[in-house]
Amino acid sequence: MSVKENLLAINETIPDNVTLVAVSKTKPISAIQEAYDQGQRIFGENRVQEMTEKWEKMPKDIEWHMIGHLQRNKVKYMAEFVSLVHGIDSPRLLAEINKQAEKHNRTISCLLQVHIAEEDTKFGFNEEELLELVHTDSFKAHKNVKVKGLMGMATFTDDMDQVRREFKGLKSLYTKLKDQYTDFDVLSMGMSGDYQIAIEEGSTMVRIGSSIFGSRN
Ligand SMILES: *Cc1c(COP(=O)(O)O)cnc(C)c1O
Repeated sequence: MSVKENLLAINETIPDNVTLVAVSKTKPISAIQEAYDQGQRIFGENRVQEMTEKWEKMPKDIEWHMIGHLQRNKVKYMAEFVSLVHGIDSPRLLAEINKQAEKHNRTISCLLQVHIAEEDTKFGFNEEELLELVHTDSFKAHKNVKVKGLMGMATFTDDMDQVRREFKGLKSLYTKLKDQYTDFDVLSMGMSGDYQIAIEEGSTMVRIGSSIFGSRN
């Protein structure tokens, strides 16, 4: 199936209140253009340099999301244009994004990454760290970042009960924080293999790559 057909099929399965991020990492401009021509405007990348090269070449009404693990020294290269950073996993990273956003006179929207997987290879805050973080003075003092919600990745497993349990946990933490922190309106969870479960469990944003663009090497 073509990118166009895949995208049409995926869109059929996503409710209107859920935002689709088309994850185009490792894929060429031609594939992104095909999705763009089909109306897709939000793309996710996990490497700053690759995202920047694509941003330079593609139409400027695209929203670029950084979905991968991010090093502080790379933030400056994307501060001019990135529209949402999904993987904030430390207070120092958030502070750096604030600093670089200020230089460009803009506000950058961010999501805090939560460690929900039972396996311990994934980045992110745990619940306790997160509840603590949102009440610190430095967190509240960042004028050029807007923390819009949470992001999480479930364990890579065939055990869909486990995946569901992890998404449920993230949703409940999201609800808890949303009560205290009114800016929250994004819950980014779900990828090609588990996005339907994620939506059932309250996701508002899914990040789908291989089901649209085909598998990666
Ligand atoms: C690559 C990636 C995705 C998309 O994965 P697929 O299984 O190809 O849909 C989603 N989220 C993150 C953080 C990723 O790195």
